[in-house]
Amino acid sequence: MPTTPEKLSKYEKLSSLTYRRVMHLLHEEMNNGLSANYNLKADIKMFPTFVRALPDGTEKGKFLALDLGGTNFRVLMVMINERDVDIQSQTYLIPQRIMLGTGIQLFDHIADCICRFIRDHDLKNETLPLGFTFSFPCKQEGLAKARLSKWTKGFRCEGVVNEDICVLLHEAMKRKNTTSVDVEVMAVVNDAVGTLMSAAHTDRNCEVGLILGTGCNACYMESLENVGLWEGDFEEPSQVLINTEWGAFGDNGCLDFIRTEYDRELDTYSINPGKQIYEKMISGMYMGEIVRLALERLSMEGLLFESADRDCELFHKGRFFTKYVSEIESDHDDFFRNVKQVLEEIGVTNYTSEDCKIVKYICTLVSARAAFLSSAGLATIINKLEKPEITIAVDGSLYRFHPRFHNLMVLKIQELVKPGLKFKLQLSHDGSGKGAALVAAVAIRLRDSKQGRCPS
Ligand code: ADP
Ligand code: MG
Repeated sequence: MPTTPEKLSKYEKLSSLTYRRVMHLLHEEMNNGLSANYNLKADIKMFPTFVRALPDGTEKGKFLALDLGGTNFRVLMVMINERDVDIQSQTYLIPQRIMLGTGIQLFDHIADCICRFIRDHDLKNETLPLGFTFSFPCKQEGLAKARLSKWTKGFRCEGVVNEDICVLLHEAMKRKNTTSVDVEVMAVVNDAVGTLMSAAHTDRNCEVGLILGTGCNACYMESLENVGLWEGDFEEPSQVLINTEWGAFGDNGCLDFIRTEYDRELDTYSINPGKQIYEKMISGMYMGEIVRLALERLSMEGLLFESADRDCELFHKGRFFTKYVSEIESDHDDFFRNVKQVLEEIGVTNYTSEDCKIVKYICTLVSARAAFLSSAGLATIINKLEKPEITIAVDGSLYRFHPRFHNLMVLKIQELVKPGLKFKLQLSHDGSGKGAALVAAVAIRLRDSKQGRCPS
């Protein structure tokens, strides 16, 4: 469906002024996060990543990359030959018992997957540089030294918080006791950084990365003079990528004025109550559940699905998937084929056409709010950077598959950015995986150029 400003207003429940207030609050919180004096108390941690340079297109080599994002775990082999990038990858499941188990179990599982991948791809007896996309808030102490500051997105593995995840990975690889497999962790990044690096490889204007997947996060290139926190050197280039970890925006209550009863309920029954408030209003891990809670409430009040079976999925936490929201909003006529299919999948059989209309309407409200809130975040960064033209690299299944997210975001950002600033939202294909390999490649390029060697 083409989205025009008139159509936009149909989904607009919070006013433009409200979004501007959100931007103002976010801007303040981001500045607090960057400041050495306030960072400890700030919700938005604004972690400097130690990534100082973007790819320049001369990177070359064969890399392994790991991508642990929250829902999927992938191992990738990435061959970079200047602008050409060839990727082979394999996705592995992380069972729930491991997500909630111990760190040893998690890293043993990761090491198992790496060994399987190396065996299946005939990579034995090679020492490959590895880029690790580890998409949880980490305090970086170097490019390949990152301590987990807290778990998010449904993970809670014991014994990992405050630990260096590269060390945990190396120890797990050692426990595997194989001599034929060796990896050298060159860089740990999160998925927003990987996504940005991946798009920056071909687009010089790309300076912001955004994730709309299991979680929601953004990163951007900041001048060192604005990073009070920075403890590294001030050599050129005097900039560093900042991993904002803005999902924690609102943890101090500053977004309470826009939260609904459904947001509160979702938060109360989550594994991290009171945490990741902004993320919980936006990302794929939560959107389906917000819709479900609203449908459940209407049904309980007798306003929807007369006499629905209380044992059906609709009344069970976590059983209304975010992909249903995309499917439902992809219905373009009044036959509601997708709505009906979803309702049947969740065990609701006695629906009317009016019910279908309401279900679709609720989905559009929840997803539009998510699109607008993330737009307010991006507009804050775009206004802060004040580049005449900027590209934002975006990755994550919510952005990729939701039928209207991109269009709604473009319109909202246009409304919120300073006049004259041009922006482009660019889907970063395979961003997080390819990006991790590129960070490793850039690190090797910079190391080699410092040692006066030509890149091999
Ligand atoms: P990760 O964040 O682990 O890298 P993804 O980018 O694939 O993984 O995002 C996974 C999230 O996207 C899940 O929370 C899931 O609910 C959501 N998702 C998956 N498919 C769709 C879809 N078709 N439409 C909207 N959201 C989706
Ligand atoms: Mg991902």
